[in-house]
Amino acid sequence: MNVKPIYNLTPQSRNFVERTIIDLAGIQSGMLRENFVTFAKQLSKFKQPANGLPVLIPFIPEIFDSSQKFEIKSSEIKNLIYGSVEEHYIGYRLSFNNSTFATNFVLKDDFREKVMSYTEDLLFARRRIQDLVKEFTSVGAFQTRNVPHLGHERIIDEMLNHCELVVINPMVGPKKIGDIDSEKLKGIYDSVLRPRYQNKITFIPIRANMFYAGPREAIHHARIRRWLGFTHFSVGRDHAGAEGIYNESAATDMTKQYQNNLSIKIITHGGAFFCRLCDKVVLKNHCNHSKDTLTEISGSDFRHCLNMKKTYPFAALDVQQWASKNLKSLQT
Ligand SMILES: [Zn+2]
Repeated sequence: MNVKPIYNLTPQSRNFVERTIIDLAGIQSGMLRENFVTFAKQLSKFKQPANGLPVLIPFIPEIFDSSQKFEIKSSEIKNLIYGSVEEHYIGYRLSFNNSTFATNFVLKDDFREKVMSYTEDLLFARRRIQDLVKEFTSVGAFQTRNVPHLGHERIIDEMLNHCELVVINPMVGPKKIGDIDSEKLKGIYDSVLRPRYQNKITFIPIRANMFYAGPREAIHHARIRRWLGFTHFSVGRDHAGAEGIYNESAATDMTKQYQNNLSIKIITHGGAFFCRLCDKVVLKNHCNHSKDTLTEISGSDFRHCLNMKKTYPFAALDVQQWASKNLKSLQT
């Protein structure tokens, strides 16, 4: 398949083209079919958070043979998806670049082929997950995009209290600057963590866009996992937030509120900490010790240590060794 012409566009628009192809595959596969918005009035359905997030196809003439267009005010989309955030909020800037959207379009051949191949990937992932559910009965999705520290391991432990199998299930798509390539985390899980967890974890990435829309996106993610066939999904501290704009418990609060609408069991937690008195990693509110005995386990501190070739106290040494050996490839 020759996909080269797609990348003759500028880097900025390239991300929007790639995002659009990813969304179109989501729609075509069925995963995002109910989220697809083809005229302005359809947006009102998404005032109900239980319906997930609206998926709009931006009007990008380069990718269409023919198309019609419609307008929705930027502020309307921003307020609906993100709440009252500033226009320069990174989640909004990465997800939307204009207020003109396409409908009744015919894609050019190159783009259609790429959409088709992404669609097949999603359907293949769904079949794998459905097979795993037949084998294990309860299978949870753990969404993570970072090199796993002891906090992640503690969350996996907690999920295994509810599920027979945990699938590390990052969403792969255009990244924020500084994000690592989560598809490449497979090496750590396969060679280091899977044996440690006696094969009770496995790694299956899915191609889907992030919006960094915090609580509403947590519900969107849960709906995607339900479509994929998972029985459980975990939502933690500041799920799908960026720049600290959402309250740390906003996502867990909202998913609990809508649990009955979701047809997938949500496992919530308030994040992992090291407790000095327990002398181990605990989930928030899982021990009775006061806040000042707890140290936050931070993905960005861990990343900083990896970059500085220092040891991070709250990540397994074998994971750190693997990550520092493969750091260059993880970051590109
Ligand atoms: Zn404690």
